[in-house]
Amino acid sequence: MSIKITMPDGGVKEFEKDSPELLPILRHTAAHVLAYAVIKEFSGTELAIGPSTDDGFYYDIAFPKPISPEVFPNLEARMREIIEAKLPIAREDLSIAAAKKLFAGRKYKLELIKDLREQGEKSVSVYRMGEFVDLCRGPHLPTTGYLDARAVKLLSLAGAYWRGNSKNDMLTRIYGTAFSTKAGLEAHLKMLEEAAKRDHRKLGKEMDLFHFEPEFAPGGVFWHPNGWSMFRSLVDYMRARQNAEGYIEINTPSVCSRKMWETSGHWDKFSQHMYYSKVLEDDTEFAVKPVNCPGGMLYFKQGIKSYRDLPLKVAEFGKVDRFEASGALFGLMRVREFTQDDAHIFCTPEQLEAESVKVVKLIMDIYKDFGFGKVRIKLSTRPEKRLGSDEIWDISERALGDALKNNGYEYTIFPGEGALYGPKLEFVLTDSLGRDWQCGTLQLDMNLPERFGISYVDAKGEKQRPVMLHRALFGSLERFMGILIEHTAGRLPLWLSPVQAVVASISEEAETYAREVSTRLQSMGIRAELDVRSDKIGYKVREHSLKKVPYIAVVGKKEAEAGLVSVRSLGGETEESMKLDEFVEKLQEEIK
Ligand code: ZN
Repeated sequence: MSIKITMPDGGVKEFEKDSPELLPILRHTAAHVLAYAVIKEFSGTELAIGPSTDDGFYYDIAFPKPISPEVFPNLEARMREIIEAKLPIAREDLSIAAAKKLFAGRKYKLELIKDLREQGEKSVSVYRMGEFVDLCRGPHLPTTGYLDARAVKLLSLAGAYWRGNSKNDMLTRIYGTAFSTKAGLEAHLKMLEEAAKRDHRKLGKEMDLFHFEPEFAPGGVFWHPNGWSMFRSLVDYMRARQNAEGYIEINTPSVCSRKMWETSGHWDKFSQHMYYSKVLEDDTEFAVKPVNCPGGMLYFKQGIKSYRDLPLKVAEFGKVDRFEASGALFGLMRVREFTQDDAHIFCTPEQLEAESVKVVKLIMDIYKDFGFGKVRIKLSTRPEKRLGSDEIWDISERALGDALKNNGYEYTIFPGEGALYGPKLEFVLTDSLGRDWQCGTLQLDMNLPERFGISYVDAKGEKQRPVMLHRALFGSLERFMGILIEHTAGRLPLWLSPVQAVVASISEEAETYAREVSTRLQSMGIRAELDVRSDKIGYKVREHSLKKVPYIAVVGKKEAEAGLVSVRSLGGETEESMKLDEFVEKLQEEIK
């Protein structure tokens, strides 16, 4: 069955009822239905905004009194009534003046209208649904009857500042989701349940990986020894892969002068995300780096570079700071201070395609190593506001497109979504719960080399401007760790596990032998811990399993006498008895 929908441009588009393209529209209509239900149920509310999201919708609302999820059944019943009434949803275009009159006294809507007017809009659109009318760009379903009441559900409540700014009113955000079928909703709820079990914040605590201090360092991660071990393993892994590909590694300052950021353009263009600082001693201004690029640029500028030096691949595990609204912070997934596995590749225009291919191959190969089999590639092309001539954009877009095409990589083009200074590739991986995460990026930049005036000498002895590729494969290491923890439900591959094996004694008699085993493992480079506490073995096993330790070597009197270990692997029900040497070999093999 298909549905005909009038789009904001007036054209009519047909959607299959269960197509993914219809979901955002369906969910946006569900958000309107929620808002209508809220004003029917509660008087004195003020509506703010209610968009669809990647997996549902929300509506931000000012309530006269705080509400709790206990109101959901009533609201859902009201929503069902609205859906079953099959109310037609009609669009209407109004002049700014007419819209202001219609929304008189409604502060959030009036503020949005004012913004639209300031952006040069002459008219705005509203959508009517029964007695309900909302300022909205659309599109919407033709009637509320196209929603399935059994496939719409309210999920949770959260506080949200108007426009994400803590100086503004605190609103109540009601989250919900909607699908085209009841089965779709049920599958999603099951996924959410599984996701809650795998929540990296919960596992991070159980596995003793990290914590946050919102009062002392909002958006900053305090890594514990276990988490930091994992972090270092990731860096070591990436470093080895990069070295094999001919990268060099540098490290550059975090706090740089105003002049540096004015040269790069960040001082003005990126100001809402920058941490500025002033030194009281001599009145100079600085900013903490939000990107590593200028550091790479100034490294390249040292000494004369020849075409023979290119491509020059300069990597930096750089810690960057970017301010994010406190409401946007989310565990490791969204922090204010993070580490990029960054690199800048300086090359000639002729080398561009080959170098891009190498990066794409490396990314795909690395994601496979972590068990992400499904990776999508997005090519974002020239935005309306951009730097550089169309000629340069033609070359750059073609180079990235050809790099993919000629090597059999499928990709989707996102017109107008490139960076200010060049087109980019984005790599979106799908985790074991089917959720998408954008991690790696490859961006082509012909702008920064110019701003920093870098050059190389070509074969004819003439100065040329190199082309630059920015690339990050994990993206943010912090975020990648969050994704990895949830993807694996904490069962990390052995090489990445902070503690690879625990040697646990059954009784006091086996303590000396347990010490010997643990020392032996450690001497073979295995991250082993010893547990000779007097607790019951069942208790010890449970505790280390909760911490997701891959192997527990249980030793008692019997094992001590025979030089054996009883190995229990994470999640396994049984123990396998083997010689100590066999166990060491097994671990080493798996780590490789
Ligand atoms: Zn960069």
